Amino acid sequence: AKERGRNHYRFYSSTMTSKASMILKLENLLYQAIEENEFCLNYQPQIKLTNNKVTGMEALLRWYHPELGNVSPVKLIPLAEKTDLIVPISLWVLRTACQQNKVWQKAGLSKMPVAVNLSARQFQQPNLVEMVGQVLEETGLEPQFLDLEITETALMQNHDLAQQTLGKLRHLGVQVSLDDFGTGYSSLSYLHKFPVNTLKIDQSFIQSLQDTPQNTAIISAVIALGKTFNLRVIAEGVETLQQLKLLQGLNCEEVQGYWFSRPLKPEDATDFLGQT
Ligand code: C2E
Ligand code: CA
Ligand code: CA
Ligand code: CA
Repeated sequence: AKERGRNHYRFYSSTMTSKASMILKLENLLYQAIEENEFCLNYQPQIKLTNNKVTGMEALLRWYHPELGNVSPVKLIPLAEKTDLIVPISLWVLRTACQQNKVWQKAGLSKMPVAVNLSARQFQQPNLVEMVGQVLEETGLEPQFLDLEITETALMQNHDLAQQTLGKLRHLGVQVSLDDFGTGYSSLSYLHKFPVNTLKIDQSFIQSLQDTPQNTAIISAVIALGKTFNLRVIAEGVETLQQLKLLQGLNCEEVQGYWFSRPLKPEDATDFLGQT
């Protein structure tokens, strides 16, 4: 890491100007994106295998820019964090997802939580709990119908603060999911300290299920863990019937992935909910 730091430094001075101006340009574009309503949320259903019912909808951020095209949230979120635009973007995502869930409820669709992703930095924002509380109040969504997805890495970065924040969120009544479960570390020994509702088994375990028998053991272990701690367990990234069958064989109860549905535009998500 030191090595890379030094190299980075060496090149930094020569490219600094263009780098700085590029970041500035992107910052402007991001700022415009908020103003011009260029963001959109897509929703991916979470399905209960015993009855094929939707148990939740995960909101996934999309940004289409006329020049840049589609910008992945994997790039967009870290950039937004560097420029502090993460605060208004977080608020927009949270508010939009809660409003959408309220719209579904008012349309008489069966009630389920909408899941919103929080990056490690978003989770550590000092006013996070306050912001969540305000959005719930403003949209009128009951707290149990909001599910916040955070990674175990986010919890481990500062676990005293994480424990406090989780306590406050739980007090508020929202659900919390541990995203990408199994890819961080120390999760097992800390699980009893973190009051979460759901474990989401990372898609890497599901996607190499056929080729790597060890993954079967890991998935079974997480499912057993979920039963012991009384948590929902969701297998992510289920793409094929073969994966689905293997998961059913392991008594996996909930799944999410392309096999059932890709992330959907709001109107398509509404149709999907209407049909299930
Ligand atoms: P994630 O939370 O782990 O979300 C799952 C990602 O896997 C999504 O990619 C989803 O479209 C994709 N996916 C779902 N089913 C399948 C499948 O069967 N196969 C495969 N190969 N992929 C599948 P997406 O939408 O590009 O999001 C990538 C990441 O960006 C997310 O990973 C999440 O960490 C982050 N992200 C997305 N939206 C937001 C947001 O609003 N806020 C924050 N902080 N992060 C977000
Ligand atoms: Ca997620
Ligand atoms: Ca995930
Ligand atoms: Ca991920």
